[in-house]
Parts: sequence; structure tokens; C-alpha cells
Amino acid sequence: MTEQTTPPRLEIRIIPVTPLQQNTSLIWSTETKEGVFVDPGGEVDKLMGAADQFGVKIVGVWLTHGHLDHAGAATEISERTGCQIIGPHEDDQWLLDELEAQGAKYGITDGRNVKPDRYLHDGDELDLAGNAFGVAHCPGHTPGHVVIYHKDGGLAFVGDVLFRGSIGRTDFPRGNHQQLIDSITGKLWPLGPEMRFVPGHGPLSTFGQERQDNPFVADSITGYQGTATQDANTTDQKLAKRWS
Ligand SMILES: [Zn+2]
Ligand SMILES: [Zn+2]
Repeated sequence: MTEQTTPPRLEIRIIPVTPLQQNTSLIWSTETKEGVFVDPGGEVDKLMGAADQFGVKIVGVWLTHGHLDHAGAATEISERTGCQIIGPHEDDQWLLDELEAQGAKYGITDGRNVKPDRYLHDGDELDLAGNAFGVAHCPGHTPGHVVIYHKDGGLAFVGDVLFRGSIGRTDFPRGNHQQLIDSITGKLWPLGPEMRFVPGHGPLSTFGQERQDNPFVADSITGYQGTATQDANTTDQKLAKRWS
């Protein structure tokens, strides 16, 4: 799968890895050739080969959450390149601590435990060669799940929060269905219907498309009707109240 954002400043390739066909994204600056992997779940040689192919110097690994198919290759990439591991939210550290133990279960034998250099929090900003990315804490699939988005490029990396026509599983330990729905309507929808997203698995879509016909989070089901700015405020207050 091949996608591009705001050419010529950033470029992206999506590389499915592991038996779970997780969408690892390689994003890089066309100006500096510095790049990051978002959710490198496994198959380090394949990922590093892609970086080499495009002449990209890996300067970071960004993680949306602590599941093996998203984070399993982070430590080895960090060791090979010297880059930092950034994210997810610290509430997923318990998952990052047991990746090696989980490996056998999913047939992913090269997964390693992860200790991020920096945790991410709601409202944080990330930089890639002068390009700003926003961070939204979106618990529900896992407690420490974050979504990373490039506002100017209209592209969000949503991990396992939202898929084309579906949403993340919440039957894992510490999953919470209502919290996931609240994350989607409260944190993602306010980013605007035009925002395209790369899900952890499967094809890309837009928030507007999912608000139309996603059987779990269409507006007709959630009752969502806010405009972007109004809702960003009211929903943030609502969520802040619930979490305090
Ligand atoms: Zn997951
Ligand atoms: Zn996944």
C-alpha cells in the first residue's frame, strides 16, 4: 500500500508486518531524509530494508500502544539505529513488559520488551524534521493507547482504536468498550471529517466515512452531531471530569 501526505515535505509508506498484518508506517521528510517508524511490530530486516531503499535515516520509533504486533520490533530498531522510542502513554508499560512472554502465543518470535525513552500524553507534540504531529490519549483498546496525527497533512495513525468499518477489540485485560467509544467521538471526531487515518490493520479511511457507515461509531448510533471546535471543548471537559 502506498500513500502520500502533503508532498513534497513528508512521504509515507505502509509496510504490513507479522502474521497479524499490522500496518507499520515509515514516514520521512523529503528535505532531510530523516524518518520514523510508527508501530514497528516485527520483521526488522524488512523494515530497515525499506528505510534503506528510500535512503531514510531512522531518527525515531513512535508507538501507539503496547501490543506485540505494534511494538515488538521497537527495541531492536532502537539498538540498530540509536534512535529513541517515543510512546505510548505510560499506562501501557505493563504490556510492554510482557511482549517477550506473549510472543509465542502469536507466533512472533522476534518481539522484545520495550522501555520507551519518552511516554506520550494527551496534547503532546512530536516533531519530525520541522513537521509537527499532535497526540491524543485514546484509552479503551488498551489504557495507554495514543493516536498520533499530522494536522497539516490530514493524516492520523490510530493504531487499534478505529478501523475501516470496525473498532478495536475491548475484550483484552483492561479493555473498556465505552471508554473506546468516548475516545473515538471525543478525541478523533473533533479532528475533522476530512482527516484520513492509517489503522493498525486493513485499509485506510477517513473519520467522515466512519461517521457515516461504521456499524459501531456512525453518527446515527452515537448521536454525535458536534462541529469540530465546539465538540473539542465540550467533550474534553466531559472526559476530564470522568478521569479526575
Ligand atoms: Zn492492539
Ligand atoms: Zn493490532
